[in-house]
Amino acid sequence: MVNTIAIIGGGIGGFVTALSFDKLNIPYTLYERAACLKVVGAGIWLSPNALQVLEWINPELLKEIQDSGNSFNRILVANHKLKPISDSDQKFVREKFGYTTMAIHRGKLQQILYKYIKQENIVLDKTFKEYVQNSDKSLKVNFTDGTSIQTKSIIGADGIHSCVRKQLFPNSKIRYTGQTCWRGISDYNLGSELESVGFTLWGQKFQFGISKISEGKVYWFAVKLSEPNLKDDKENLKNKLTNMFSGYHPLVNDLIKNTSIDNIIRGDLSDLELLQKWNSQNICLIGDAAHSMTPDLGQGGAQAIEDAFYIAHFIKESNTLETAYDDFYAYRKSKVEKLVKQSRITSKIAITNRFGEIIRNFILKYTPEKYMKKQMVELYQLDKW
Ligand SMILES: Cc1cc2nc3c(=O)[nH]c(=O)nc-3n(C[C@H](O)[C@H](O)[C@H](O)COP(=O)(O)OP(=O)(O)OC[C@H]3O[C@@H](n4cnc5c(N)ncnc54)[C@H](O)[C@@H]3O)c2cc1C
Repeated sequence: MVNTIAIIGGGIGGFVTALSFDKLNIPYTLYERAACLKVVGAGIWLSPNALQVLEWINPELLKEIQDSGNSFNRILVANHKLKPISDSDQKFVREKFGYTTMAIHRGKLQQILYKYIKQENIVLDKTFKEYVQNSDKSLKVNFTDGTSIQTKSIIGADGIHSCVRKQLFPNSKIRYTGQTCWRGISDYNLGSELESVGFTLWGQKFQFGISKISEGKVYWFAVKLSEPNLKDDKENLKNKLTNMFSGYHPLVNDLIKNTSIDNIIRGDLSDLELLQKWNSQNICLIGDAAHSMTPDLGQGGAQAIEDAFYIAHFIKESNTLETAYDDFYAYRKSKVEKLVKQSRITSKIAITNRFGEIIRNFILKYTPEKYMKKQMVELYQLDKW
């Protein structure tokens, strides 16, 4: 086992790293704490940068994901009454990359990714506890069930609360944004006009996002300012949410009313203060463990997928893992750090006061289309390999 890399965490980043390692014949074992994969959770948007990686891994994998989700023709930011502030026709994206951003159920995505990984390389129901450096630079990994393994390297893909990061960089800081988020899957038909649109309603106090994810299923999210760690009284939750959005376009409350209470999940929104490095010696972090960002640009998962693609290539091309991890960080740092900062700014302007709303809407409305298109192409482009 000492010749293999241990991937800790089987989320989006960990699974796509495993798939990329399979593709490039890099030996590894992935350890995930969940005992099984269930189709739970809400939706996720996957942008063309992520889809290009999935296509590179296996065009059939991409097709299965696309068939299980829903692609957008337009990405729309609207006001609380659904009046467009910024409306981006995605035809130019389809022409350039072959596909547009799509939405899919998160649990479904995980199940499809899982199916394509070499099963002998995955160990479920294994929770990482700590690592110990051996004298020959290899590592011993201890799990919470008392077992341990030897490995030559660790990739920490264990999310924003990463235990690998806490041991590697004990001073890293998670920053609460001051916002909490409810996500739901509604049994609802959006109708032909809206079903191929990924859209967000930006009001003054709240943000509400909507997208069809499959036939008769619509993913939505609602964001508001809040103290952290508050819990919901389940019985009153739907009333609370419908009251919050009573001044919004009626579609919002129709979606909430058509959501089973068991399909609504709440989570406080945080990101990670930028790290000085993502790696040290033979340990490297990827995805949210390295650079968790707020969800406002829909890029956290896509960047974890990009990380997977690039780290696999750097490992394949480097003589040592230390060099591969140094080069990986040097290459990825500027794109990712820009996105962490932009996401945080977007989270602040999405929910604002009346004055802020006027300025924000004005700027968004009059941002030249040419500039917006250039930004999107730059974001979706994979540059190396
Ligand atoms: C409300 C919201 C909406 C979002 N929407 C989007 C979107 O539309 N598009 C997008 O691209 N991104 C989105 N994101 C961001 C995206 O969810 C994350 O960036 C992405 O999940 C990060 O993937 P990851 O693999 O790094 O971490 P995770 O997905 O968090 O996976 C970490 C994995 O590690 C496992 N794990 C944790 N600790 C241990 C341990 N000790 N031992 C073993 N296993 C462990 C966990 O069980 C989990 O499976 C959103 C985020 C939020 C909060």
